[in-house]
Amino acid sequence: MKLDIDLLIAYFGGVNALAEALRRHDPEGAASTAAIYKWRTRGSLPLAQLQRLTALAEAQGRPLDLNAFLEQQPTLQRAPAQPGNSRIVVFDTTLRDGEQSPGAAMTKEEKVRVARQLERLGVDVIEAGFAAASPGDWEAVHEIAQTITESTVCSLARAVENDIRKAGEAIAPAPKKRIHTFIATSPIHMEYKLKMKPQQVIDAAVKAVKIAKEYTDDVEFSAEDAVRSDLDFLAKIFTAVIDAGATTINIPDTVGYSVPSAWYERISSIIRSVPNGSKVVWSTHCHNDLGMAVANSLAAIQAGVRQVECTINGLGERAGNASLEEIVMALKVRHDLFGLETGIDTTQIVPASKLVSSITGYPVQPNKAIVGANAFAHESGIHQDGVLKHRETYEIMSAESVGWSANRLSLGKLSGRNAFKTKLAELGIELGSEEALNAAFARFKELADKKREIFDEDLHVLVSDEMSNLTPDRYKFISQRIVTETGELPRAEIVFSADGEEQHAEATGSGPVDAIFKAIESVVQSGAELQIYSVNAVTFGTESQGETGVRLARNGRVANGQGADTDILAATAKAYLSALNKLEGGEKVKAQGGI
Ligand SMILES: [Zn+2]
Repeated sequence: MKLDIDLLIAYFGGVNALAEALRRHDPEGAASTAAIYKWRTRGSLPLAQLQRLTALAEAQGRPLDLNAFLEQQPTLQRAPAQPGNSRIVVFDTTLRDGEQSPGAAMTKEEKVRVARQLERLGVDVIEAGFAAASPGDWEAVHEIAQTITESTVCSLARAVENDIRKAGEAIAPAPKKRIHTFIATSPIHMEYKLKMKPQQVIDAAVKAVKIAKEYTDDVEFSAEDAVRSDLDFLAKIFTAVIDAGATTINIPDTVGYSVPSAWYERISSIIRSVPNGSKVVWSTHCHNDLGMAVANSLAAIQAGVRQVECTINGLGERAGNASLEEIVMALKVRHDLFGLETGIDTTQIVPASKLVSSITGYPVQPNKAIVGANAFAHESGIHQDGVLKHRETYEIMSAESVGWSANRLSLGKLSGRNAFKTKLAELGIELGSEEALNAAFARFKELADKKREIFDEDLHVLVSDEMSNLTPDRYKFISQRIVTETGELPRAEIVFSADGEEQHAEATGSGPVDAIFKAIESVVQSGAELQIYSVNAVTFGTESQGETGVRLARNGRVANGQGADTDILAATAKAYLSALNKLEGGEKVKAQGGI
């Protein structure tokens, strides 16, 4: 009987984490990192140290069951933490799971822009959508597959033949492609949702993986509701799909129920219990209902997963998904603990965050880690003094390292059409036609007249605005006149087109914004309810463009509209019309279930 030292070290999160924990728990007798490495090479450790580990585990509230670390037990195959594999695969699902947030639906053009930015960010896998959900979803996945060359392009598919074939056809043009199939594995889902016996669920999963293999070698399988599934059953289904050819196995916490220590335990024991588990990359997908999506993802990494599924800004249904930027920066800043790398160019994080926020109309809270406007603002006097004296006193990472400096001067009033075009290309923005480019350039000149300095962010919102002008939308803003005077009711007169016909509307309101909304409604009579109205400055300085967001709801449908202008009242009218356009756009078929 011999202890599996590797496994034992992994239980404490790896060599560095163990050394650190021992140091904190028992400074006197702590073992150095070098000593722990030695245990691993020798395959044994001094008894006194084993006692310290036992005490440490006890103190961490998860006592050691030494039997679980005995070598050669059939259920204790080496965790495929792939010891030498220190590379984390970053799987971004902003375009699939993120898009399921109420009102965050994106047009095909918007999805392609986000995909290009994700590629620039260095994301390994882009989950571009759920191809079988609707023809529109299929088109978007297909377009992204034709555009993206560096990242792997993935489509989600239920474990049914039609879904998998749709996904396979949609991703076909991509140089690197993946099909991600899933089925529910918890007793409650199998019995009531799928109405299938456990063996039927295994058979369906195996068949799905085999069909997916006709389209690509790269096949991911997810067990929906893994958090409430039986561990033995999970081991059984994972073993079967790996035999069928799955190359990544994802363990999601679909409902955001787990906590880090429990998730660590669950993932470790699943990985240990799958005999052919070393052939695949293990993955996790965590939701943020208890605010622990990032913490759970990091715990899963310590337990051996080498792929994390996440979204920009943590976008996603309910409380959202694990946030890409927080996971990536945690791995980078605490490299001493994790010893792992990603392929992310962190200086592209803030541009990606701003792009996703502006396209979906989901603002980023100012105190959000990494990408919030205050994340690097050291306001208190003591802090400022410390930062000035020595940067590292209070900053564990620099604003520049995550791309805040990308807010640099782009173009000025005298920049020509060519410089404008080159700059857009640099930002990954491609306008479909010469006509679109000319229109955007005209808007740029107009903006440069009002605002001396034009930044990258300005160009992003300008193009978003311009693109929404080019789509065959029902309502388009033309012009407006707003009169406000102390003691008088504000009055709005608005000219816009509806189905190509010019409409003149006017109304008074409690304030100018209210007057604008009432004027538009006097003609449109949408009956929609205003849920959120927001204004943000696109860049710093009083000359900044204002970006406004309007969220409308009607009969359970939600739509977010955006507008941008140096005149925030004009931006407000644009945002309202944009939300109306989206509210009346085509109905989306939602993924049944999902992960
Ligand atoms: Zn999800």
